[in-house]
Amino acid sequence: MSQAVHPAASSETAFPAFRVNSGDGPSLVPLDIGHASHLAVIDPDSAFWALVPREDLAETLEGRGLAAAYQTRAARFKDEMRALRFGLGLSAVYVNPTERCNLNCAYCYIPERMRRDGEHMSAERLLSALEILRGYFKERMPEGRLPQIIFHGAEPLLNKEAVFEAISAFHGVYRFGVQTNGTLLDEEGARFLMDHGAGVGLSLDGPEPKVADRTRKTWAGNGVHASVLRAMDLLAGYPGHNVICTVTRENLESLTAMVEFFHARKAPSAMLNMVRCTLPGARDIKPGDAEAARAFIPALERSHRLYLETGRKLVIANFANILAAIYAPTARRLMCDISPCGGGRVFFALAPDGGMYPCGEFVGLPGFRGGNLFTDPVDAVLASKAFSQVTGRKVEDIEPCRRCAIRHFCGSPCPAEAHEMRGGMDKTGAFCAFYGEQVRFAFRLIADGRAGDFLWDGWDAGTETLFDAATEPGLGGEARS
Ligand code: SF4
Ligand code: SF4
Repeated sequence: MSQAVHPAASSETAFPAFRVNSGDGPSLVPLDIGHASHLAVIDPDSAFWALVPREDLAETLEGRGLAAAYQTRAARFKDEMRALRFGLGLSAVYVNPTERCNLNCAYCYIPERMRRDGEHMSAERLLSALEILRGYFKERMPEGRLPQIIFHGAEPLLNKEAVFEAISAFHGVYRFGVQTNGTLLDEEGARFLMDHGAGVGLSLDGPEPKVADRTRKTWAGNGVHASVLRAMDLLAGYPGHNVICTVTRENLESLTAMVEFFHARKAPSAMLNMVRCTLPGARDIKPGDAEAARAFIPALERSHRLYLETGRKLVIANFANILAAIYAPTARRLMCDISPCGGGRVFFALAPDGGMYPCGEFVGLPGFRGGNLFTDPVDAVLASKAFSQVTGRKVEDIEPCRRCAIRHFCGSPCPAEAHEMRGGMDKTGAFCAFYGEQVRFAFRLIADGRAGDFLWDGWDAGTETLFDAATEPGLGGEARS
């Protein structure tokens, strides 16, 4: 340890009103974002940030300029973050109308025995479940906002009759979505979903069969690339559809080509999600953090060049959510990127037998079954020990997240992964350095004035600017709204 010697402070120096990074002064942790001219300073507790020219850092840390302006609003930012993290109520349910799937993807988080031989939920039980939930949401949803029901995996269209009957019966009561592997979507089904305004998510892991079929295949080992493309054609031009690409070692080298492919096919948005490593099969194809960042960031850059060339955006939604989280935390969508995450709090997963789990990631893990929708009050299940394990997981309790400046832009996802792969809720998930690089890239885009090109049009509708460095007296620059 070295010791720096400074001249004693002059007794004539005015006693400062506060000191940055000590006492009750604001916390402003400098973060190197890899930008030529700017650094970020972040209050890790409130997620307030500002970009400061490198040469102005000393002034900021001395408590002048930005720090003085922030100090007057720090308490409000902290309250806002507390409300976002702990104050949100249930607004969505992921419904698994069947345990079965016609595919055997390498990274699936649902155990094989369920996907091969599991149960369907009958149409009668599904309608009854949605009726129970209607009663629950009736008193709790804000005026003018519909709760969301997302039919999710295994493969919901294996039980298409029940799903479509439910969508017809509860049209206007819920906003519906279907996440499907696309292999069973025919023209009539696609038309039905579009006519009912249902969101449709398709899964595709590569621009060509030789890549996509490495991870997504039938039980007999056959690829399904061609049938997913047919489903994309049926949905072409429909604004409510998106495509999910799960990023693994098997398709890492194709991410930029994947973006070109999605853009050429006019997909309005896509996700490039890092593989969730809850079950061992996924861990075998998990990319390293550095190699993931080296493939992911050029793919994002490619989406931007395509936007500049054509005027048409392909929003990479999982990255856009991080950008939104940085710009305006309350504008972000349902999320893995804040801790506690949305699982068990903003949404839960419903299994075909009525079993309730904090998130679909837990459906194969009996210790996380909080109760049964048909027999237990929803609030009691949300407060159950099984759910509390997930909703009680906080970044502050995780090492090294507790001292990480970007902890509210990453959130250390995912609790299912941490529990199964790392051995505890107080452990990080499968990726850490990758998320760090993603956040640094987001800040660089903001510094360069390019961030808006990566966000949905109208992403900030309904947000309120609480702090704008450009209009703050004596300041000029970017800071969180
Ligand atoms: S996982 Fe890594 S990047 Fe994310 S909050 Fe924890 S330490 Fe920070
Ligand atoms: S972090 Fe994991 S448990 Fe939480 S919402 Fe995301 S996938 Fe579900």
